[in-house]
Amino acid sequence: MSYENFTVETDGDGIALVTWDMPDRSMNVFTAAVMDEIDRIVDQVVADAAIKGAIITSGKKGSFTGGADLKMLSGMFASFEAKKREDKDAAIQELFDGVGRMSWLWRKLETCGKPFVAAINGTCMGGGLELALACHGRVAAAGARMGLPEVKVGIFPGAGGTQRVPRLTDTQSALQMLLKGSTLSAEKAKGMKLIDAVVPEGDLVARAREMLNAGLSPVQPWDQKGFKLPSGPVYSAQGAQIWPAVASLYRKETADNYPGARAIVKCVYEGLLLPIDAALRVEQRYFTEVLQTTEAAMMIRSLFVSLQELNKGARRPANVPASQLTKVGIVGAGFMGAGIAYVAAQGGLDVVLIDRDQDAADKGKAHSKALMEKLVGQGRATKEQAEAVLARITATPDYDALKDADLVVEAVFEDRDVKAEVTRKVAAVLPKTAIYASNTSTIPITGLAEAFDDPERFIGIHFFSPVDRMMLTEGILGEKTGDEALAVALDFVRAIRKTPIVVNDTRGFFANRCVLRYMSEAYDMLVEGVPPAMIENAAKFAGMPVGPLALNDETAVDLSLRIMKATMRDMGDDSVDPRHFKLVEQMNGDGRLGRKAGMGFYDYPAKPAKKSLWPGLKQMFEQQPAESIDFEELKQRFLATMALEAARTMEEGVVVDPREADVGSILGFGYAPYTGGTISYIDGMGVKAFVALCERLADRHGERFQPTPLLREMAEKGESFYGRFPPKTPEAKAA
Ligand code: NAD
Repeated sequence: MSYENFTVETDGDGIALVTWDMPDRSMNVFTAAVMDEIDRIVDQVVADAAIKGAIITSGKKGSFTGGADLKMLSGMFASFEAKKREDKDAAIQELFDGVGRMSWLWRKLETCGKPFVAAINGTCMGGGLELALACHGRVAAAGARMGLPEVKVGIFPGAGGTQRVPRLTDTQSALQMLLKGSTLSAEKAKGMKLIDAVVPEGDLVARAREMLNAGLSPVQPWDQKGFKLPSGPVYSAQGAQIWPAVASLYRKETADNYPGARAIVKCVYEGLLLPIDAALRVEQRYFTEVLQTTEAAMMIRSLFVSLQELNKGARRPANVPASQLTKVGIVGAGFMGAGIAYVAAQGGLDVVLIDRDQDAADKGKAHSKALMEKLVGQGRATKEQAEAVLARITATPDYDALKDADLVVEAVFEDRDVKAEVTRKVAAVLPKTAIYASNTSTIPITGLAEAFDDPERFIGIHFFSPVDRMMLTEGILGEKTGDEALAVALDFVRAIRKTPIVVNDTRGFFANRCVLRYMSEAYDMLVEGVPPAMIENAAKFAGMPVGPLALNDETAVDLSLRIMKATMRDMGDDSVDPRHFKLVEQMNGDGRLGRKAGMGFYDYPAKPAKKSLWPGLKQMFEQQPAESIDFEELKQRFLATMALEAARTMEEGVVVDPREADVGSILGFGYAPYTGGTISYIDGMGVKAFVALCERLADRHGERFQPTPLLREMAEKGESFYGRFPPKTPEAKAA
């Protein structure tokens, strides 16, 4: 028997070693062909009397599998959409059969009558872990990491994950793992009884052989008579303790916005009441249902497909060869510069970190030291790794150290003159081939580029704070920014493992424009007399990770005042609502500058006490009775105002690709992930429905909600953003 993606070698003891090693990929993934081959391998193992049992492992170093090819899933979904119009029932049946393929294949393997052991040599995600769970024994290499992350892209583990995990481990741990989509270390997985043994990588197959030679049963515990669930039956005293809490925890964590998460709870609850075959069918039904939701379609598109495409350089000019980045300079070792130096050194680059004097530069480097020490303390890095990262950072006030840098990122004070002076100093020493990037958050790049000798080599790279945790960067194209600057900037972002979006030069770029709308809507609600707690809760129920008032405290209320003043100076007094200005000015006057001052919209008592909304806020505005407020409408206002701003950025040509508005909004400011992002929020409900929503909100709350001319035109023509602005590809740009 020969296979394209597997080798099968049987030893003298009758143990077949099945090695998965896809020839044309760096990582194994499930495709239709892979599943057909596994099916044939199971048949071979059963049919061959010389085979006693089998081991499944991977030939890829450090990785078992990344899971299913989600593109296959979106393909299945697209074909479903097309067929649905002709014959809905037949289309649903086809989808049901399609999604059941993997689940029933794993069931076939676990009931084939011969024992299988999964030898997990490294990363093992999604369908791969579900395959392992269907094996009769599981042994993992010490460094292996595994998980069922499906919920993060709007779906759930639909190939037995929701059934086998809670049959191996207690219900609470199972639900937590499934609902969070968390990644587990091999040790943690063993602690949860998902893995039988953890061994050094070199001993993996030998240990699997031992398990088989010791007579591993080919019958899973749940197929044996008298099987008991780890947490006892659902309808039992123990179950009565668990399930009511699960329901409330689920609501608290998800605000019921994620059909995938809801289905996990239902699958586990209903599945544990049934024998495994019926339980798997329940899971298959819910999976079919969830796949048809707008949330799943939008989340898969933005958080899986588009995210990967952007990370791989969807916007990178194809005509520029890959840059050989080795050394970057960071000028300004403050809050942002220190963070950028850290991620650059982590990405393997040599870093020169410059500030006005040695002390300031050293202070910037100390940030990396603190972060690496934390990683070492958590066991996520070794001492040697920490030393290597720190050794790559040279802290100095001497600009000469930039003379062989490939790229410089400027992160000095947000002041045109200071930036211009620094730019000239850098330009005097920087090689003529190197690229200069500014991390400005508000100053147009085109103007800043004037201080540089070659504006083609000048670009904006806007980071978000905290730099080590925020995954987005905004590349900003000045009027004269050239392809090479963009290519190098994107290569840099890739090296530091962040996700780039690329936008044209404008006030607030993309993310900050949308975020300001979020906070501004909260100011409106405050002055209307909506109770502050209701404002924060409405935002969270709408799916935002942080309420707008809490967010404003994080970004600082004095910054809000400065932005308002700058906006009024540049665009006239009418550009800021006087009621908002008064509110923010008063907060500033009272010293309520946000978290850094220990008080803002919230009070921040000493730990361990938790922050609480400042009671004085309620005194500032006459409060409306809560029951007279339309809570659903508050949620819509938040989501719509940010989506509308994103639509404006596309209409103005600031953002040119809907994927960037979507991914940028989720990664940059946590825009309700279940929507798929600001633009998918609009496309998901349809532009026509969005325009109707905006018109209603404009009637009730003001002109800021008026749909733009483009939105009206698209509504009329029945267009979507993804249809009207097809995603850009490097090929398209080159052509
Ligand atoms: P910061 O005040 O913490 O750091 C600025 C650093 O620049 C200081 O260490 C200062 O000593 C140094 N500096 C000033 N003049 C210098 C000079 N002539 N030569 C060398 N070093 C000099 O400020 P920050 O928050 O890190 O902001 C830096 C830049 O990043 C600003 O342009 C800001 O708008 C932008 N930014 C900030 C954030 C944020 O959340 N703070 C987010 C995105 C972008």
